[in-house]
Amino acid sequence: MSATAEVLRELHILHQRAKSIRDRLASAPRTLNARQNALAARQADLEKARKALQDAKLALKKNEHTLQAQQTKIDDLKVKLNQVKKNEEYRALQNQIAHDKLAMGKVEDEILKGYETIEAQAAAVAAVEAEVQGFAKELAALEADIDAQAVGQKAQLGELEASIVSAETSIPADDRERYSRTVRQFGADALATCEAGACLGCFTAVTPQMVNHLIVGDMLVFCKSCGRLLYLGEEEAKPTVKKARK
Ligand SMILES: [Zn+2]
Repeated sequence: MSATAEVLRELHILHQRAKSIRDRLASAPRTLNARQNALAARQADLEKARKALQDAKLALKKNEHTLQAQQTKIDDLKVKLNQVKKNEEYRALQNQIAHDKLAMGKVEDEILKGYETIEAQAAAVAAVEAEVQGFAKELAALEADIDAQAVGQKAQLGELEASIVSAETSIPADDRERYSRTVRQFGADALATCEAGACLGCFTAVTPQMVNHLIVGDMLVFCKSCGRLLYLGEEEAKPTVKKARK
């Protein structure tokens, strides 16, 4: 098998198809990773919302205890009030009770506000919980999908790589090293079409002598500007007598 334009074109296509599969295989885990990070961020938000709810419940409990203590104190003062005999002591106690009742009113207001806060925070927790749950489910489905696709893609890639190795047998032994180097440098774009006397890899004109070699097919032609392995465009290769591929 010699390196005809047809063989090289086919080799170029095989390289490009293999690259596109490799790209897809590489990008899927990145997509998944980004989604996993987004989920982790929402889970952290959920933990924060849960903590805020817990804190609000604790604050409410504390206020309820305070209120109870204030009530007990007022009850005690009322007992004392019935026992004092001196007028000024009676008045002092009355003032104390009035003062304590005011303080109680403030705590009661805080308790009411606390209930409202708890209600709002509980609703927020439930909303984020539902979101995280849906998100996790979606992510599991995406992961399964990616895994399933990867199996087929890896098999396809294996076939393409085998076809590339087979097509590469047409590269003359003397050019193998240069070809490998070009593939390492350019990847799937190590080959380029030569059309209208120009390399389509770098859009630089090639010499008439190079075009002649491409037409005759007596040697491999590498672009002097970019180094890509050249082959004639399909239209331009037509008039030449094609050599048998095998
Ligand atoms: Zn070039």
